[in-house]
Amino acid sequence: MSQYLFKNFQLLEPQFDDVRDGYELLIEGTQIRELADKPIKSPSAIKIDCAGGTLMPGLIDSHVHVFLSEVYLPNLEKIPLTLMTARSIGLMEGMLNRGFTSVRDTGGADWGIKEAVEKGNIAAPRLFIAGQAIGPTGGHSDSRRRTDYGMRCHCCNAMSFTMCVSDGVSEVRRAAREQMRQGADHVKIMMSGGVASPYDPLTSLQFSMEEASAAVEEANAFGRYVCAHAYTPEAITRAANAGVRTIEHGNLIDEAAAKLMASKGMFLVANLVAYYAMKERAAEFGMAADMIAKNDMVIEGALRSLEICKRAGVPVAYGSDLLGPLQVEQSREFRLRAEVVSPIEIIRSATSIGAKVLRMEDKLGTLRAGALADLLLVKGNPLKNLDLLQNQGRDLAIIMKNGQFFKNDLAR
Ligand code: ZN
Ligand code: ZN
Repeated sequence: MSQYLFKNFQLLEPQFDDVRDGYELLIEGTQIRELADKPIKSPSAIKIDCAGGTLMPGLIDSHVHVFLSEVYLPNLEKIPLTLMTARSIGLMEGMLNRGFTSVRDTGGADWGIKEAVEKGNIAAPRLFIAGQAIGPTGGHSDSRRRTDYGMRCHCCNAMSFTMCVSDGVSEVRRAAREQMRQGADHVKIMMSGGVASPYDPLTSLQFSMEEASAAVEEANAFGRYVCAHAYTPEAITRAANAGVRTIEHGNLIDEAAAKLMASKGMFLVANLVAYYAMKERAAEFGMAADMIAKNDMVIEGALRSLEICKRAGVPVAYGSDLLGPLQVEQSREFRLRAEVVSPIEIIRSATSIGAKVLRMEDKLGTLRAGALADLLLVKGNPLKNLDLLQNQGRDLAIIMKNGQFFKNDLAR
């Protein structure tokens, strides 16, 4: 098994508040074998002199959609599954280039693409999938035109492939079970209106308490959990009371809803950059005016939601939720959060907290022994300059995933 011994770096281990000197790190195969604050003896290992750069765990984006390759989602009706898949390859390679070695897809990605990543058919981040995002008739997952009656088949275009409409306890139960049969790592449900869907008011309440509880019951029975799309305090509260584990977006959260989330050990997955990017550029990619109006309703709550969760003690994970060509802005989330959150907290959101969301805290988001060998070597200290994580990974000298170099500038 190949061994690599990393020397001469500053360690950025998210459990510490600052970088530390004097450490060495030994990789064996796909795992971190040893992290020590003294020299590690390993005669057979290939030595890597990191030239004083910062070694940190690979980044985790806890809210992406690798199959949603259009900004104006109804355009996906014209995209066959082959083209959807081909486009996702480029989108995922971009993520890996930016240092994201794990991503959590919250609607769309299926077991087939996950298998392709795991088998090494394509260069992409480790994928955690939801299968189809499940919502009620007329809700955020209902992609049909008003002139459509009845359901469309799910095998024809990218739009219907990624979404599932279900109503009532037994249909939601069946839909949740179906996603898990298809290999879902988590079950995604819609609890409030959304921005990128045409007909549902943003403040609408979507799944009922009974429907959400049915999804939770099935997910838990299968050893999975439910993540819920929700913007308003009412939708967040209903999701929390139904046993949902993570709230996606949560822009309009209030103190009471945040306290409830904290008391239940829940996570917020925020994604500010999606709203800023949509405000600036969605119109040029054909997004409809009523969707852009809904975007304006939530953008002003985004930074406030981080402050409310911080006060209430709700851990906030790093999300981007960018659609199609806007995905190049994935790392701008670091910059946006810096207005209200410290650099180490932002790094934790994209490492150790993301790993907890994935229930992989021993394996991801850390450089401790036993973790998977996902790491970055940054040319400088991101705690002093978060912009080192911008520019499509330009300042990342090494990107390693699962013990394999995706990028190694030092070797050049
Ligand atoms: Zn959503
Ligand atoms: Zn999303």
